[in-house]
Amino acid sequence: MKNANHLNIKSDATTPTACLWCKGKLGEVKYHNVKDRLGYVPGTWDLIECSECKSLVLSPFPSTSDIGNYYPEKYNIPSPTQTSGVRKLVSFVESKFLNFLYQKEARALSRKLPVFKKPSIKILEFGCGNGNRLEFFHNLKFDIVGVDMSRGDIEAIQSKGMKAQCIDIQTLPEHFEPNSFDVIMCFDVLEHIPNLEVFFSKILPLIRPGGWMVAGLPAQDSIPVRVFKEDYIALNEVPRHVSVPSVKGTQMFFKRFGLQNLGLLPYSSLSCAMAVGLSLFKSATAYAFYNNEIKFFILFKRVCGLFVLFLSCPVLLLENYFTSHPSRFIVFAQKDELKS
Ligand SMILES: [Zn+2]
Repeated sequence: MKNANHLNIKSDATTPTACLWCKGKLGEVKYHNVKDRLGYVPGTWDLIECSECKSLVLSPFPSTSDIGNYYPEKYNIPSPTQTSGVRKLVSFVESKFLNFLYQKEARALSRKLPVFKKPSIKILEFGCGNGNRLEFFHNLKFDIVGVDMSRGDIEAIQSKGMKAQCIDIQTLPEHFEPNSFDVIMCFDVLEHIPNLEVFFSKILPLIRPGGWMVAGLPAQDSIPVRVFKEDYIALNEVPRHVSVPSVKGTQMFFKRFGLQNLGLLPYSSLSCAMAVGLSLFKSATAYAFYNNEIKFFILFKRVCGLFVLFLSCPVLLLENYFTSHPSRFIVFAQKDELKS
């Protein structure tokens, strides 16, 4: 466990006053004393429920300048070229599996949105990570560019012949023309962003009138959250997750920015089940396995998590297709045809 000084965290966190998603009044603390599942950032946090849309907001609420210090160097599964030995082999297998899941979701999205039927469209993925979804759309011959803060990921994507740039949200409008993209998408990004309104005010002007904004998110109003509570991976990802929205809160947020024709698509049931496996074996994180000395007990627990994934998949499949509250979902909406 690191200490706060080592992470260069200043203590200027504040108490949140309004919901990030619907602007509604915050109500009671729903989850008390939640700890970072990675054990990387010391301390405890509360998750306060919005009295209007039931989204959860982190308290104390971190300052924007501190957020970057909450992320360890190897936060996600590294690509095999970024590691060695046993880890290289494990990362090869895990990356292949993630690649399969991400591409499955990208394929479902491309079937759902009519814009993907057009022969040549321009797409931006913000927070593209190591580029699995990017690759799917690149292979469909779309003009796609990935943006991420991780220089290592961006260089890995560029080495595969795809377009990617290392840019933060503040300077994003300086790098691209307004009204230039048919689709902007971000997966597992919005729940990390403290000022969602600033984010949307920077990113939406880049979408052409009639273009689409797409976001993948965890939901707080789902069966896994009810079962695992603060042990669920979307909740104990504090303080990197500064909010966990409800489906209703997300829809209210998109509508507040004038986006239309809102639709919802569950993540694949395997992706939702993977979050369950990781919640049950919460010490078996990619951070623990890829950052420290090799502990085969952690690897064993990651394999156990895989079994739980397959066992829980039928329940998640039922939740995804027979309720309006999937545990992980993709929301998409269209910019007004007349609005630039
Ligand atoms: Zn709310």
